[in-house]
Amino acid sequence: MRPTDPCPCGSSAPFGRCCLPLHRGESPAGTAEQLMRSRYSAYTVGDLDYIWQTWHPRTRPDSLTPTDGLTWTGLELLDTVAGQPGDETGEVEFRAQYRQGPRPGVLHERSRFAVRARRWFYLDGDIFD
Ligand SMILES: [Zn+2]
Repeated sequence: MRPTDPCPCGSSAPFGRCCLPLHRGESPAGTAEQLMRSRYSAYTVGDLDYIWQTWHPRTRPDSLTPTDGLTWTGLELLDTVAGQPGDETGEVEFRAQYRQGPRPGVLHERSRFAVRARRWFYLDGDIFD
């Protein structure tokens, strides 16, 4: 993924001016939605450090390991509640398409986010069938 490529989060901006600066720690996510998008992008490029660093210390796993043969192929946002600058919590519901080997699939999740030390973190989420 080059900085000039379209950002995998589905915005119309290039990766280098959308989620990449967040991955590099150059600018923190301003909203829960922005954090969610940047985490999705991090999954697509395999940046598990960023996933871990933006996971709330209260709920994050000890470590993350990549899932073999899993490729994320698209993101669709369905709903957002709060998660704006000045809010303490937020929710984002999305559908993320993936392929695992030859099989396509969809992750439909409603994620919760919280601010800690003035930064957005992923807290947890409910997964729909
Ligand atoms: Zn992006």
